Parts: sequence; C-alpha cells; structure tokens
Amino acid sequence: MRETVRFVRNGRVVETAAPPDLTLLGWLRGSGSTGAKDGCSEGACGACTIAIGRASGDGVTYETVAACSVLLAQVDGVEIVAVEDIAAEDGTLHPVQRAMLAARAARCGFCAPGATMSLFALYQNTDGDLSADAAGAALQGHVCRCGSYRAMVAAAVTAGGNRSQTRHDRLGSTTAALLADLAADEELRSDATAFVAAPRTVDAAALLWAEHRDAVLVAGGSLAVPALARQARRPQKVILLGRAVELAEIEDTAETLSIGAAATLSAVRFHLAAIDPDLGVLVDRIGGPQLRSVATIGGNLAAGGRGADLAAALIALDAAIVLRQGLAERIVAADAFFQDDGKQDRGPTELVARIVVPKPRPGATFRAFKVAKRYDLAPATVTAAFHFVIDHGQIAMARIAYGGLGPAPRRAVAVEASLAGVQALDRSAWARAFAALRQDFAPLSDQRGSARYRMETGQALLGKALIEAGSNSDRRTRLAGFRDTADVFG
Ligand SMILES: Cc1cc2nc3c(=O)[nH]c(=O)nc-3n(C[C@H](O)[C@H](O)[C@H](O)COP(=O)(O)OP(=O)(O)OC[C@H]3O[C@@H](n4cnc5c(N)ncnc54)[C@H](O)[C@@H]3O)c2cc1C
Repeated sequence: MRETVRFVRNGRVVETAAPPDLTLLGWLRGSGSTGAKDGCSEGACGACTIAIGRASGDGVTYETVAACSVLLAQVDGVEIVAVEDIAAEDGTLHPVQRAMLAARAARCGFCAPGATMSLFALYQNTDGDLSADAAGAALQGHVCRCGSYRAMVAAAVTAGGNRSQTRHDRLGSTTAALLADLAADEELRSDATAFVAAPRTVDAAALLWAEHRDAVLVAGGSLAVPALARQARRPQKVILLGRAVELAEIEDTAETLSIGAAATLSAVRFHLAAIDPDLGVLVDRIGGPQLRSVATIGGNLAAGGRGADLAAALIALDAAIVLRQGLAERIVAADAFFQDDGKQDRGPTELVARIVVPKPRPGATFRAFKVAKRYDLAPATVTAAFHFVIDHGQIAMARIAYGGLGPAPRRAVAVEASLAGVQALDRSAWARAFAALRQDFAPLSDQRGSARYRMETGQALLGKALIEAGSNSDRRTRLAGFRDTADVFG
C-alpha cells in the first residue's frame, strides 16, 4: 500500500500527497503552474486542458484531459504535461506555440493555453502533416469567445508542416521507461477514515464501496470530481475505479461486445463504431477529446437518465448491465435499468461492472440518432435508436428506443407493435407508428426543447430510420459537423 501518488513530469518522477478533494488543476496552480486556467470548473470549456502521456512502445502517446475534472490521485502512474512544460529547456517555443503566435490565435489568452495543449497532443501523436480536419476534431472541446478557431486550425496545419524535434520527443524513451516502472507499482490507499483508494480488482473495489457507503466512487471523474469540488464539506473518502484492470477490459467477439464499465469512451469508440457507424458518431458527440479520454461508459450509464446518449442505442441492441454489490452479481436488461431521470435499478453501493452488447445478426439494420441544439458540446434533446430485421421489405423484428421523450430512456413498445409484419415503406403504416409514439411517450417541455418539438423530432427520426432501413441501401443522410466543411477553414 502506498499513500502518495507518483507521476512523471518533464522526465522526472514526482511523488506527492493527494488528498481526496485535490484536483489536478488545483495542484498545478497551487504549485505555480498557472498556465491552465480555471474556466467553467466542470470540464466544458477546455481552458484547463493538459496532456496525459502513457507509454506506447518505447515512446509516449498523449491524450488530453480537463484538469478541473480529474483528481490529482487519478494521474498516478501517468505522465502529465502542462503548458509550462512544452517549450525546450533553453526557452525555444514548441512548434505549436510558435505557430499559435504567428497565426495570432491567442486573443484574450484565456483559452489559448488549453487549446495549445490539445494541439500539442495532436502534434506529438502524429508524424508528418496535420490536417485541418484533425485539428478541428482536436479542438472540439474548446470554447473560445474571441472566435479564434480558424486561426488555431491554421496554426496546427502550419506547425505540422514545419516539424522540428521537441522537448517531449527527446524525453520520450526516458519517460516510457519511468512509466513502465510506475505501472508495476502497488495499490494506492491511505488510512481508513480519510482516503483515496485505487483498488486493482473489481472485487476489491466492490467490497470497499460496500464497506464504506459514504465514499464517493469516481470512475473518469468528469461529473463526480466537479460535483465533489463544489461541496462545502468535501468528501473524505474516494474510491477510484481507474486502476481496476478488469473494469477497463473490452472483449469483442463475433456475437457480443462486452465492455468493462471503466472503459473510457475513447477506448470504446472503435468497438461500437464497428457494430454500426452511427454508434461511433454518438460517442464522438459526447463532449470533446479531453472528456472522452477519461469519461467511462459505466459513468455515462450510472449518472445519466435522460442525459445518457448511449442509453437508447444500448436498449435497442438489447444490452445487459452487469451489476456488483460486494461479491454478489446481478444482471439487468438495459431497458429495465433506467427508471427515471437520474434513477436506475441500482442499489446505493451497487457498481456497474460490465455492459454486454449482443451484436445485430447479419442482415439486421441498425440506426441511431442524436438531435441537439448544436452539433458539438451539446446534450441531446432527443436520441433514438432503431433495430430492424426486414425480410423482403416486411418488418420481421423492430426494437426501438428513445431518450429525451420521457423521464428515462425507454423502449417504444407501442411503435414496435404497430410495425410488426408491415412493409417498411408503407406510408399508412408510418402514420400508425407516429400515432403509436404518442402512446409510448408524453414528453415535457424544457429549455432544450418543447414537448411538441420532442415528439415531432421523435416521429421524424422514426420516418428517417424506416426510409433508410426499408430502401435496402447503405445510404445515410446525416448532419456533418463543422469539421467536415473543409472550405470553412480554407
Ligand atoms: C462537458 C461535458 C459534456 C458532456 N456531454 C455529454 C453528451 O453530450 N452526452 C452524454 O451522454 N453525456 C455527456 N456528458 C456526460 C458524460 O458522458 C459523463 O460525464 C461521463 O460518461 C461520466 O463518466 P465518468 O467515468 O467520468 O463518471 P464519474 O464522473 O466518475 O462518475 C459519475 C457518477 O457515476 C457514478 N459511477 C461512475 N462509474 C460507476 C460505476 N461503474 N458503477 C456505479 N456508479 C458509477 C459515480 O459514483 C458518480 O456518481 C458530458 C459531460 C461533460 C462534463
């Protein structure tokens, strides 16, 4: 057992105490690295973005995180790179910094350090040129009120075209060796009354939570950490799931995708997109890269009622949620798991351990949609997922689910019944299905959309799915994010 955290910074191991309520941003700024800014304090603006390095071969691969939304204890065993660290030892700026200055991409300066770190991670991970599309995607999680996005993208393209060896290129093999030593390290835990524990097995995590009901469970921390940082009386006990290896495992077979609840959204994306490209797009539209690098699928389901974009898709795929209370395991169908907004069929210390997704059988059609006020960085107003088996134009199976039409994501059973055995392109059947959606849901109005808007959107998505599924073609009409409009960036 070890009571301090250890991580690598600038080619050296840093060892320090990590109280349960200390965020990475708090530690950085408290120790004089004030480049990362405290903007929204909830991981939504990108101003506190820093890079996290993990060993990859004999080098290091970088992801970005919002330092306000991770605890210092969560960076145990990784490399951290803050904006102060990227210039060379002699003060020569990183190519991305030089290009940001030349492109006048830093106006008020508040978002610039975070945006620089997103472009740093992109630069360090990529050999050769950087495309405007890749830069746009890297900047997805940044809010710049001066509107310097175009200049930032131009800076990234320029930096990629003028490569030179950087400080972190030179430090790569040293850092990788240090990270390998830290990876073999023992469990993290302090004392029994105030602790940050990072158990290494799902059994240990589940038992510890059952024993300490007052502990805060933190997976990625994207919601849990800002919430605990807002509390006047800070929690004294934190259980981190990030080092429980089994909880991050993903088993992908021909029939089933089984996802450990602590697998991050970025790790899960590839596997979900392989089931259907719409699922990849759903993941890509959850926050920005600095959220998806830490946010877990289990956290998305455990925290989200209406707000879990993946829920409708998992229900339509007939996924199962595997729960753990201490050593006892229980399996709940995704459809029964979500009970109300933020309320699930889950006990107070019951852990989401795995999500098991049966893959659609060959010939089945799957479609999933998210409608939100903006393409990026916007919670869904309505999500919908459609799983059909169509035989000679006739619907042999329909499993349909919606989020945003009721207090919890749920199956549209009346719609499913109305579509049984009908021709998918029969417009009179559509009219009956649209009417049936009103039996399934009675949406409420809120700031994201009126009840009428939600219902009509749900009906329109149903029509869209039926056209696509019934026309027996792979064509999909989808909104493209700003990244696909290359002419915007010239
Ligand atoms: C800026 C921003 C934008 C977002 N945009 C979207 C969006 O567009 N669509 C969308 O669907 N979501 C969105 N989210 C929500 C996001 O998906 C969740 O924040 C994330 O998935 C939660 O995962 P986490 O691992 O960070 O959970 P944490 O923050 O660690 O935990 C969240 C809660 O779930 C509990 N929990 C976590 N893991 C488990 C588990 N395995 N078992 C039991 N309880 C658990 C924690 O105790 C805590 O109460 C957004 C969040 C942010 C911050």
